[in-house]
Amino acid sequence: MQVLRFAPSPNGWLHLGHAYSALFAFEMAKRLDGRFLLRIEDIDVGRCRPEYEQAIYDDLRWLGLEWEEPVRRQSEHFAGYERHLKQLREMGLVYPCFATRKEIQDAIAQSGIAPRNWPADPDGAPLYPGIYKNIPRETLNRLMWEGRTYAWRLDMEKAKAEAERINGGPITFTEEGASALGHKGVLPIEPELFGDVVIARKDVPTSYHLSVTADDALQGVTLVTRGQDLFPATYIHRILQLLLGFPEPRYHHHGLIRDDTGRRLSKSAKDMGLRALRTAGRTPADIRRLIGL
Ligand code: GLU
Repeated sequence: MQVLRFAPSPNGWLHLGHAYSALFAFEMAKRLDGRFLLRIEDIDVGRCRPEYEQAIYDDLRWLGLEWEEPVRRQSEHFAGYERHLKQLREMGLVYPCFATRKEIQDAIAQSGIAPRNWPADPDGAPLYPGIYKNIPRETLNRLMWEGRTYAWRLDMEKAKAEAERINGGPITFTEEGASALGHKGVLPIEPELFGDVVIARKDVPTSYHLSVTADDALQGVTLVTRGQDLFPATYIHRILQLLLGFPEPRYHHHGLIRDDTGRRLSKSAKDMGLRALRTAGRTPADIRRLIGL
Protein backbone atom coordinates (compact mmCIF):
# COMPACT_ATOMS: atom_id res chain seq x y z
CA MET A 1 0.00 0.00 0.00
CA GLN A 2 1.23 3.50 -0.85
CA VAL A 3 1.96 5.85 2.05
CA LEU A 4 2.08 9.63 1.52
CA ARG A 5 2.50 12.49 3.91
CA PHE A 6 2.36 16.24 4.40
CA ALA A 7 5.06 17.44 6.77
CA PRO A 8 4.73 21.13 7.68
CA SER A 9 6.82 23.04 10.21
CA PRO A 10 4.73 25.03 12.72
CA ASN A 11 6.84 28.18 12.51
CA GLY A 12 4.23 30.40 10.86
CA TRP A 13 0.67 30.42 9.53
CA LEU A 14 -0.15 28.18 6.58
CA HIS A 15 -0.50 29.93 3.22
CA LEU A 16 -1.78 28.90 -0.20
CA GLY A 17 1.50 27.12 -0.97
CA HIS A 18 0.96 24.81 2.01
CA ALA A 19 -2.68 24.27 1.03
CA TYR A 20 -1.49 23.16 -2.41
CA SER A 21 1.15 20.80 -1.00
CA ALA A 22 -1.23 19.30 1.58
CA LEU A 23 -4.08 18.80 -0.90
CA PHE A 24 -1.66 17.45 -3.50
CA ALA A 25 -0.50 14.66 -1.14
CA PHE A 26 -4.00 14.02 0.20
CA GLU A 27 -5.60 13.72 -3.24
CA MET A 28 -2.74 11.61 -4.58
CA ALA A 29 -3.08 9.22 -1.61
CA LYS A 30 -6.80 8.93 -2.35
CA ARG A 31 -6.16 8.26 -6.04
CA LEU A 32 -3.62 5.56 -5.18
CA ASP A 33 -5.89 4.05 -2.55
CA GLY A 34 -3.07 4.74 -0.12
CA ARG A 35 -2.62 6.12 3.37
CA PHE A 36 -2.17 9.80 4.17
CA LEU A 37 -0.14 10.98 7.15
CA LEU A 38 0.36 14.39 8.69
CA ARG A 39 3.70 14.96 10.42
CA ILE A 40 4.67 18.00 12.48
CA GLU A 41 8.29 18.96 11.80
CA ASP A 42 9.00 21.00 14.91
CA ILE A 43 12.67 20.32 15.66
CA ASP A 44 13.41 24.05 15.63
CA VAL A 45 11.98 24.57 19.10
CA GLY A 46 12.97 28.25 19.08
CA ARG A 47 10.79 29.12 16.08
CA CYS A 48 7.92 26.63 16.36
CA ARG A 49 4.89 27.63 18.41
CA PRO A 50 1.87 25.69 19.74
CA GLU A 51 -0.56 28.18 18.20
CA TYR A 52 0.92 27.56 14.74
CA GLU A 53 0.62 23.81 15.27
CA GLN A 54 -3.01 24.14 16.33
CA ALA A 55 -3.64 26.32 13.26
CA ILE A 56 -2.23 23.55 11.03
CA TYR A 57 -4.83 21.11 12.38
CA ASP A 58 -7.65 23.67 12.16
CA ASP A 59 -6.81 24.95 8.69
CA LEU A 60 -6.30 21.49 7.19
CA ARG A 61 -9.51 20.18 8.71
CA TRP A 62 -11.34 23.23 7.34
CA LEU A 63 -9.90 22.39 3.90
CA GLY A 64 -11.44 18.93 4.22
CA LEU A 65 -8.31 16.87 4.92
CA GLU A 66 -8.30 13.79 7.12
CA TRP A 67 -5.23 12.02 8.43
CA GLU A 68 -4.25 9.12 10.63
CA GLU A 69 -3.86 9.62 14.39
CA PRO A 70 -1.65 9.92 16.34
CA VAL A 71 0.23 12.59 14.44
CA ARG A 72 3.99 12.23 14.74
CA ARG A 73 5.63 15.30 16.29
CA GLN A 74 9.36 15.34 15.69
CA SER A 75 10.14 17.24 18.90
CA GLU A 76 9.09 14.12 20.83
CA HIS A 77 11.71 11.94 19.14
CA PHE A 78 15.08 13.60 19.61
CA ALA A 79 16.51 10.44 21.22
CA GLY A 80 15.76 8.47 18.05
CA TYR A 81 17.47 11.02 15.79
CA GLU A 82 20.44 11.05 18.14
CA ARG A 83 20.88 7.31 17.62
CA HIS A 84 21.14 7.86 13.86
CA LEU A 85 23.63 10.66 14.42
CA LYS A 86 25.66 8.32 16.62
CA GLN A 87 25.69 5.75 13.84
CA LEU A 88 27.06 8.35 11.38
CA ARG A 89 29.65 9.36 13.97
CA GLU A 90 30.74 5.76 14.44
CA MET A 91 31.07 5.43 10.68
CA GLY A 92 33.46 8.41 10.81
CA LEU A 93 31.32 10.39 8.39
CA VAL A 94 30.50 13.47 10.50
CA TYR A 95 32.74 15.92 12.31
CA PRO A 96 32.12 18.78 14.75
CA CYS A 97 32.42 22.26 13.26
CA PHE A 98 32.77 25.22 15.61
CA ALA A 99 32.63 27.90 12.92
CA THR A 100 30.42 30.91 13.46
CA ARG A 101 28.80 32.60 10.46
CA LYS A 102 31.39 35.37 10.83
CA GLU A 103 34.31 32.90 10.78
CA ILE A 104 32.93 31.36 7.59
CA GLN A 105 32.60 34.81 6.00
CA ASP A 106 36.16 35.69 7.06
CA ALA A 107 37.54 32.43 5.67
CA ILE A 108 35.84 33.15 2.35
CA ALA A 109 37.12 36.75 2.38
CA GLN A 110 40.67 35.47 2.94
CA SER A 111 40.45 32.81 0.24
CA GLY A 112 41.42 35.17 -2.54
CA ILE A 113 38.14 34.42 -4.32
CA ALA A 114 35.65 37.31 -4.48
CA PRO A 115 32.72 36.43 -2.15
CA ARG A 116 30.25 36.76 -5.04
CA ASN A 117 32.23 34.11 -6.94
CA TRP A 118 32.34 31.75 -3.97
CA PRO A 119 30.09 28.76 -4.75
CA ALA A 120 26.69 28.65 -3.05
CA ASP A 121 24.67 25.53 -2.31
CA PRO A 122 21.21 25.03 -3.91
CA ASP A 123 19.66 26.87 -0.93
CA GLY A 124 21.89 29.87 -1.56
CA ALA A 125 24.22 29.39 1.42
CA PRO A 126 27.97 29.67 0.76
CA LEU A 127 29.69 26.29 0.59
CA TYR A 128 31.49 25.49 3.82
CA PRO A 129 35.16 26.45 3.40
CA GLY A 130 36.39 23.46 5.42
CA ILE A 131 37.74 25.27 8.47
CA TYR A 132 37.61 22.86 11.46
CA LYS A 133 37.70 19.89 9.12
CA ASN A 134 40.54 17.57 10.12
CA ILE A 135 41.66 19.76 13.03
CA PRO A 136 44.15 18.13 15.42
CA ARG A 137 42.60 16.08 18.20
CA GLU A 138 44.09 18.37 20.91
CA THR A 139 42.43 21.42 19.35
CA LEU A 140 39.15 19.54 19.13
CA ASN A 141 39.40 18.49 22.78
CA ARG A 142 40.22 22.04 23.86
CA LEU A 143 37.24 23.53 21.99
CA MET A 144 34.93 20.89 23.44
CA TRP A 145 36.38 21.47 26.90
CA GLU A 146 35.79 25.23 26.54
CA GLY A 147 32.14 24.42 25.93
CA ARG A 148 32.12 26.06 22.50
CA THR A 149 28.97 25.49 20.52
CA TYR A 150 29.26 23.37 17.37
CA ALA A 151 27.39 21.71 14.53
CA TRP A 152 27.90 18.19 13.16
CA ARG A 153 28.77 18.34 9.47
CA LEU A 154 28.57 15.43 7.07
CA ASP A 155 31.89 14.85 5.29
CA MET A 156 30.15 14.77 1.92
CA GLU A 157 32.99 13.28 -0.11
CA LYS A 158 33.48 10.40 2.31
CA ALA A 159 29.73 9.97 2.85
CA LYS A 160 29.06 9.77 -0.88
CA ALA A 161 31.86 7.25 -1.39
CA GLU A 162 30.54 5.07 1.43
CA ALA A 163 26.94 5.36 0.19
CA GLU A 164 28.07 4.36 -3.31
CA ARG A 165 29.94 1.40 -1.87
CA ILE A 166 26.78 0.29 -0.03
CA ASN A 167 24.70 0.86 -3.14
CA GLY A 168 27.15 -1.02 -5.32
CA GLY A 169 27.40 1.85 -7.80
CA PRO A 170 26.23 5.38 -8.64
CA ILE A 171 23.25 6.61 -6.61
CA THR A 172 19.99 7.63 -8.26
CA PHE A 173 16.44 8.47 -7.27
CA THR A 174 13.09 8.16 -9.01
CA GLU A 175 11.37 11.45 -9.71
CA GLU A 176 7.75 11.24 -10.79
CA GLY A 177 7.12 14.99 -10.82
CA ALA A 178 9.92 17.17 -12.10
CA SER A 179 12.66 19.52 -10.97
CA ALA A 180 12.31 23.24 -11.68
CA LEU A 181 14.31 22.44 -14.83
CA GLY A 182 11.89 19.69 -15.82
CA HIS A 183 14.10 16.74 -14.94
CA LYS A 184 12.22 13.55 -14.17
CA GLY A 185 12.63 9.79 -14.27
CA VAL A 186 15.59 7.97 -12.73
CA LEU A 187 18.05 10.75 -11.94
CA PRO A 188 21.62 10.92 -10.64
CA ILE A 189 22.30 12.70 -7.36
CA GLU A 190 24.69 15.65 -7.01
CA PRO A 191 25.22 15.94 -3.25
CA GLU A 192 28.56 17.71 -3.73
CA LEU A 193 26.50 20.81 -4.60
CA PHE A 194 25.82 21.10 -0.86
CA GLY A 195 29.36 20.47 0.40
CA ASP A 196 29.66 19.40 4.04
CA VAL A 197 26.08 20.08 5.18
CA VAL A 198 25.09 20.49 8.81
CA ILE A 199 23.35 17.31 9.89
CA ALA A 200 22.87 18.08 13.61
CA ARG A 201 23.78 20.62 16.26
CA LYS A 202 25.26 20.43 19.72
CA ASP A 203 21.95 21.29 21.37
CA VAL A 204 19.60 19.75 18.74
CA PRO A 205 20.84 16.27 17.75
CA THR A 206 19.25 16.44 14.30
CA SER A 207 18.45 18.65 11.31
CA TYR A 208 15.71 18.80 8.69
CA HIS A 209 17.68 16.37 6.49
CA LEU A 210 18.27 13.77 9.18
CA SER A 211 14.81 13.78 10.74
CA VAL A 212 12.89 13.86 7.45
CA THR A 213 14.74 10.80 6.11
CA ALA A 214 14.51 8.95 9.42
CA ASP A 215 10.78 9.62 9.75
CA ASP A 216 9.87 8.85 6.16
CA ALA A 217 11.57 5.48 6.67
CA LEU A 218 10.07 4.85 10.10
CA GLN A 219 6.57 5.72 8.91
CA GLY A 220 6.92 3.62 5.77
CA VAL A 221 6.42 6.55 3.37
CA THR A 222 6.62 5.17 -0.18
CA LEU A 223 6.01 8.37 -2.16
CA VAL A 224 7.45 11.66 -0.91
CA THR A 225 5.52 14.61 -2.34
CA ARG A 226 6.76 18.15 -1.69
CA GLY A 227 7.61 21.41 -3.45
CA GLN A 228 10.28 21.72 -6.12
CA ASP A 229 12.30 23.92 -3.78
CA LEU A 230 13.23 20.71 -1.94
CA PHE A 231 14.24 18.82 -5.10
CA PRO A 232 18.02 19.18 -4.52
CA ALA A 233 17.65 18.19 -0.83
CA THR A 234 16.79 14.72 -2.15
CA TYR A 235 20.49 14.29 -3.06
CA ILE A 236 21.36 14.48 0.63
CA HIS A 237 18.41 12.33 1.65
CA ARG A 238 19.44 9.50 -0.69
CA ILE A 239 22.93 9.49 0.85
CA LEU A 240 21.50 9.32 4.38
CA GLN A 241 19.07 6.55 3.39
CA LEU A 242 21.91 4.39 2.11
CA LEU A 243 24.20 5.10 5.08
CA LEU A 244 21.49 4.42 7.66
CA GLY A 245 19.96 1.40 5.91
CA PHE A 246 16.63 3.06 5.13
CA PRO A 247 14.48 2.02 2.15
CA GLU A 248 14.26 4.24 -0.91
CA PRO A 249 10.93 6.02 -1.46
CA ARG A 250 9.85 7.50 -4.80
CA TYR A 251 9.62 11.26 -5.14
CA HIS A 252 7.16 13.66 -6.68
CA HIS A 253 8.25 17.29 -6.46
CA HIS A 254 5.43 19.60 -7.43
CA GLY A 255 5.44 23.15 -8.77
CA LEU A 256 5.25 26.09 -6.37
CA ILE A 257 2.36 28.47 -5.96
CA ARG A 258 3.46 32.00 -6.82
CA ASP A 259 1.91 35.37 -6.08
CA ASP A 260 0.70 37.78 -8.78
CA THR A 261 4.21 39.09 -9.29
CA GLY A 262 5.57 35.57 -9.83
CA ARG A 263 7.32 35.41 -6.48
CA ARG A 264 7.23 32.27 -4.37
CA LEU A 265 4.89 32.54 -1.40
CA SER A 266 6.56 32.78 1.97
CA LYS A 267 5.33 32.67 5.54
CA SER A 268 5.39 36.46 5.57
CA ALA A 269 2.96 36.69 2.65
CA LYS A 270 0.11 37.38 5.08
CA ASP A 271 -2.49 38.18 2.45
CA MET A 272 -2.17 34.66 1.10
CA GLY A 273 -2.53 33.14 4.57
CA LEU A 274 -5.29 30.54 4.85
CA ARG A 275 -6.61 32.14 8.03
CA ALA A 276 -6.86 35.56 6.44
CA LEU A 277 -8.60 34.17 3.37
CA ARG A 278 -11.01 32.22 5.56
CA THR A 279 -11.78 35.31 7.69
CA ALA A 280 -12.35 37.24 4.49
CA GLY A 281 -15.13 34.77 3.68
CA ARG A 282 -13.39 32.47 1.20
CA THR A 283 -14.56 28.84 1.21
CA PRO A 284 -12.47 25.67 0.85
CA ALA A 285 -13.81 25.43 -2.72
CA ASP A 286 -12.47 28.97 -3.38
CA ILE A 287 -9.06 27.89 -2.07
CA ARG A 288 -8.97 24.88 -4.43
CA ARG A 289 -9.87 27.17 -7.31
CA LEU A 290 -7.19 29.69 -6.32
CA ILE A 291 -4.48 27.02 -6.37
CA GLY A 292 -5.87 25.16 -9.33
CA LEU A 293 -6.60 21.84 -7.61
N1 GLU B 1 9.01 20.44 6.91
C1 GLU B 1 9.39 20.88 5.61
C2 GLU B 1 8.84 22.27 5.34
O1 GLU B 1 8.02 22.77 6.07
C3 GLU B 1 8.91 19.97 4.49
C4 GLU B 1 9.45 18.60 4.62
C5 GLU B 1 9.33 17.72 3.39
O2 GLU B 1 8.24 17.65 2.81
O3 GLU B 1 10.31 17.07 3.06
O4 GLU B 1 9.21 22.89 4.39
